[in-house]
This record gives sequence, structure tokens and C-alpha cells, in this order.
Amino acid sequence: MAPQREWLEKDYYAVLGVEPGASDREVQRAYRRLAKANHPDANAGDAAAEERFKEISAAHEVLGDADKRKEYDQVREMVASGVGPGSFGAGDAGFGPGFGGATFHFDDGGGLGDLLGNLFGGARAGTRRRGRAPTGPVRGADLEAELHLDFVDAVHGITTSVGVTSDAPCSVCGGSGAEPGTFPQPCATCGGTGAVAVDQGPFSFSEVCPTCGGRGEVIEHRCKKCRGTGVERRRRDVKVRIPAGVRDGQRIRVKGRGAAGRNGGPPGDLFVRVHVGDHPLFGRQGKTNLTVTVPVTFPEAALGTQVKVPTLDGPVTVKVPAGTQAGKTVRVRGRGIHPARGDAGDLLVTFDVVVPRALTDEQRAAVTALAEQLSENPRERLGV
Ligand SMILES: [Zn+2]
Ligand SMILES: [Zn+2]
Repeated sequence: MAPQREWLEKDYYAVLGVEPGASDREVQRAYRRLAKANHPDANAGDAAAEERFKEISAAHEVLGDADKRKEYDQVREMVASGVGPGSFGAGDAGFGPGFGGATFHFDDGGGLGDLLGNLFGGARAGTRRRGRAPTGPVRGADLEAELHLDFVDAVHGITTSVGVTSDAPCSVCGGSGAEPGTFPQPCATCGGTGAVAVDQGPFSFSEVCPTCGGRGEVIEHRCKKCRGTGVERRRRDVKVRIPAGVRDGQRIRVKGRGAAGRNGGPPGDLFVRVHVGDHPLFGRQGKTNLTVTVPVTFPEAALGTQVKVPTLDGPVTVKVPAGTQAGKTVRVRGRGIHPARGDAGDLLVTFDVVVPRALTDEQRAAVTALAEQLSENPRERLGV
């Protein structure tokens, strides 16, 4: 079987749930287990299982065959290095640094196998992969950082900064990779595009320029600090805008603020995991509601009254209806979280009826007199 177009889209390793480096035995074992669990005989009428079984079989057909697996791995490697279906030659707009491999044109009539065979069989491809260190643009790694916020900042949103230690643009050359006072020069081989054209019969190809490794530039005097990579490991502060209403445990993506790319590659992203502290009065409910518990006395609950209730933007007056029960919740509209997009949340006020811990003789007499008046048994419905 020649390499298939689907290989570019399907991650057969993920389908079988094994690592790309898994041994043949591990592949076989994973296949047998999954095939058994999803076999149509055992899942009559289950269309999803049937679909999974087909996928598992397709994955096994490739990964279970040493030669096919090798070819598949090569195709995947190529895809990972930035190759995509397309049909442009060197010098096309949009083909610049950041591109790290060859590109090819699909012809659905076939020929892909030959094409890939030529690519992989070529001495140049082999040398590029195993020989000298890669010089093409490499995207920077994604980074993770933790951020602790207090309750109010999380509710209102805040612009703050997090410290990260990672690859960053070199402090000496500013990321160009060239000694200060010198500059990278456009690559003469590819004219600065980073790609050279290769003729393959009916197909129009581009390959990474062998001179500049796809960068489009050549550095004659490499920066001593970063040895021409343009990258240096150091601590830096990254500004992060936290949206109003961020929740504990949420991850905020800061695009392009991860580790610096190498050799002109784009930077990775920074993912900030947010930890939100507690508030002495308020809690959160759902995405936009705030909660607060407000104590009222028995007479207030029984007779009804108006009480002042704190909100994050000043107190509001809330009516306590006569006969309010302990645990009753009322809603104060629009006094919750105001997200950047969407409607403001509400403040949910829960009344707690407080009981005096100690009574004077006079109070005891008054409560006793009241008890005599309230002859109704509140436990009647319990049937005891
Ligand atoms: Zn440098
Ligand atoms: Zn070049």
C-alpha cells in the first residue's frame, strides 16, 4: 500500500491509545484489546462502536505492519515539521520563515506514493533529518504559569503580570542572532524566501532552502551570547489581561508569549492557570452570580423589614418579607459579576435567622410568653 492521503489527518497512535514510540507488541496488545471491546459482534446496532472498530482496524493495518508503519511515521514527521497540502512554488506569498519543510501538491488520481518515495528516498531529505543540527525556524514551546488572584480581582478582572523563565529573545542581539552592529543578510540561494523550487514532473514543489535552513537569512557574524539562535533563557514578566469573572482553575491563553522560537520561528503560547482566593463575605455561583448570607433576627423574619446588604460595589437595601424562613434566598438583579461579554449576574442573598445565645430574665419571660401564643407544632409533618 502506498502512503494514503488519510495518513496526514489520522493519528493512528492516538486511535490505538499508544505512544508513537510504542513497541510492536504494545501496538498488537492495544489493537486486540480495542478490537475486542468494539467488535460489531459484541456491539450489535451500535453505530459508534462500528465506526471505532473501523478506525481501529485501519490504524492496525498501518501500525501493525513494520514497513507501512515506517512510511507512516515519515509522513507524520513531515506533517509535524510544517508541511501541508498545497501547491505553491518558491517565492509564493505566505511562504516565509516559520515554514519548516517541503510542500507538495496533491493529485487525487494517485502519485502521492511516488512523490513521497522521491522525497524520502532523496539523499538530501535523509541528511537533513539525521545530519547536522536543524537550522530551520522552530516554533517556541508553550509555557504554563500559575497566577493567584484575590476574589475581588477575579470578579472585576485585572491586568497583571506573571513571571516566567524560558527561552526569550536574546538580550544582546534582540533576537536577530547577529552580533550587535551586524545584520543577518538575505540568503542568496533562495532570495530570502527560505525555499527552493524542485521540479518533479507534474508536481510543483518547494523544499527548505539548504543554505539558510528555511530562515531566508544568513548570519555571517553570529551573536556570541546566543550563538546565532536569537534566543536566551531568562526570566521575564508577561503582561496578562484577566477577564472579569475568571474562575478558579481556569486557563487563560496569552498568544505568542510562550518560549521564543529559534532561528526566526514563531513564539509559543503562554497558558496561565488562575487560582482564585476566597472572600470573607461573598461566594460565587455559576459563571456570573455572587452569593452572600445575611443574618436576620426572629422578629425581623417574622414581621418583615428592610435590611442593608453588602455588594461588591456598595450596599443595597433588600426587603425581608414577613414570614421569611431561614435559608430563603432572594435575588438582587445585576449585582453579580459583570463579564466583558454577556449579561451581568445577580447577587443571591440567603437569609439566616439568628437565635440569641443568651437571654436576660426579662427577655426569657417575653420569649416564654410568645411561645405560649405560638401553639402550632412545626414538626407535625414529620409524623413523630
Ligand atoms: Zn543573541
Ligand atoms: Zn535560503
